[in-house]
Amino acid sequence: MHLPNRTDTICALATAPGMGALAVIRISGKETFPTLSRLFITMKGKSKDFGAVRPYSIHYGQIMEDGKVVDEVLISIFKNPHSFTGEDVAEISCHGSVFIQQAILQLLQRNGIRMAEAGEFTLRAFLNGKMDLSQAEAVADLISAQHAGAHKAALQQLRGGYSSTIRDLRTRLVDFASLIELELDFAEEDVEFANRDKLLELVQELQREVKKLQESFASGNVMKNGVPVLIAGKPNVGKSTLLNALLNEERAIVSDIAGTTRDVIEDHLVIDGIRFRFMDTAGIRHTDDTIEKIGVERTLQHAAKASIIIYLCDPAQSDAIALKKEWNDLLQGIDPSAVMCITVINKSDRFDYDQLLKEYRELPNAVFISAKEGRNIDELKAKLAGAAIGRGEQGDQSIVTSARHAESLHLAASALQKVIDGIHHQLVTDLLALELKDAIYHLGNITGEVYTDDLLGNIFSKFCIGK
Ligand code: GDP
Repeated sequence: MHLPNRTDTICALATAPGMGALAVIRISGKETFPTLSRLFITMKGKSKDFGAVRPYSIHYGQIMEDGKVVDEVLISIFKNPHSFTGEDVAEISCHGSVFIQQAILQLLQRNGIRMAEAGEFTLRAFLNGKMDLSQAEAVADLISAQHAGAHKAALQQLRGGYSSTIRDLRTRLVDFASLIELELDFAEEDVEFANRDKLLELVQELQREVKKLQESFASGNVMKNGVPVLIAGKPNVGKSTLLNALLNEERAIVSDIAGTTRDVIEDHLVIDGIRFRFMDTAGIRHTDDTIEKIGVERTLQHAAKASIIIYLCDPAQSDAIALKKEWNDLLQGIDPSAVMCITVINKSDRFDYDQLLKEYRELPNAVFISAKEGRNIDELKAKLAGAAIGRGEQGDQSIVTSARHAESLHLAASALQKVIDGIHHQLVTDLLALELKDAIYHLGNITGEVYTDDLLGNIFSKFCIGK
């Protein structure tokens, strides 16, 4: 993958494409101020040298082409290095018609400014040291965050999140690595510059930090992609009726992932800013699934992956004793601390409420609803939100949400383990130096202190244009 030229000046629409009250066009690079000085006049008809104006100033006037007014605009000026990209930057606020947006962008291009590629402003910010790679990735996450949980995770990462800890520890490891390299230079003299005990201590501290972050990926992933919820229960207890009742009022996103079978259709619901992802809802909707055995196996597989299981029952089908057994069967082989169970007694419209309470109150987190009549659905939603918060899905600790980071952490963890083993087994210095280099490399991949063009291309191509 190629990386765009960094020395030329770029422009793009920074606001969403289409018509709006206003639009913002962003320009970054050396030619920003000279170009705007040529195209802009004040309302009094005077030209302006943007190279000489104060940084962080706003200028009211007109963009002109061949003596004709293109639009009345406000231009905000940010001078290098105190700008988003670290270069000279201007933002033109113009009227939001698509025609005006295009007219100004085309005028800029005729004046030698190139249209930016996806993520190119943020790429420049990264390459100019304005942010590290994990922060740059957080910008993309922040823009695409669709619910409070994802927003919070992205914001935390943007502010530096865990990358500063990793960077500090890595810097100390680099110092040790150079001492070890020095030992190699004095190989014949059998000296030890790098105290092995201290090195071991540092590597173990790093390993603990990396492990902590690795563990956070599970809940980080949940914040970003939604808390996985399984709705289970015997046929005809009302699963699909409940799913519809839950989703109808507050349907957030129903993702029908293109090009795949209906098996992976998933429904999402946002309650109190937490996103829930209902698993295998195709299975629930696919009511003519008569091959019961396959259905049961699939439910068991999903149960192992769910954070919350809603088990639905029809009082006409199962009494409390039977229901306890059904729960036991479902939870076989599942770590009880990994999952939150909610028992939902459905069809309460058909039964005496007090009788139901008496019969089922000992079941885990029992809620009595009527999916058909929409009764007590709010109570169930509150239980779901409570279960997610109880499981720490909204906690404040550093969390990893990016699969790329999780992969780098995994590689770093195994490299660090090799260093630890190497010290324990008194590995010869040159081999230990190699293991250290490997660990330093993978740690650097997380913050972007080590990167390849491919990696950058891959990350920034996922951004939207103008960011
Ligand atoms: P599923 O097989 O578990 O998905 O069950 P369905 O949602 O298809 O429901 C099976 C039958 O139970 C349908 O006839 C529903 O109308 C009915 N049903 C679902 N929920 C309720 C309820 O709360 N009260 C009553 N009386 N009937 C319900």
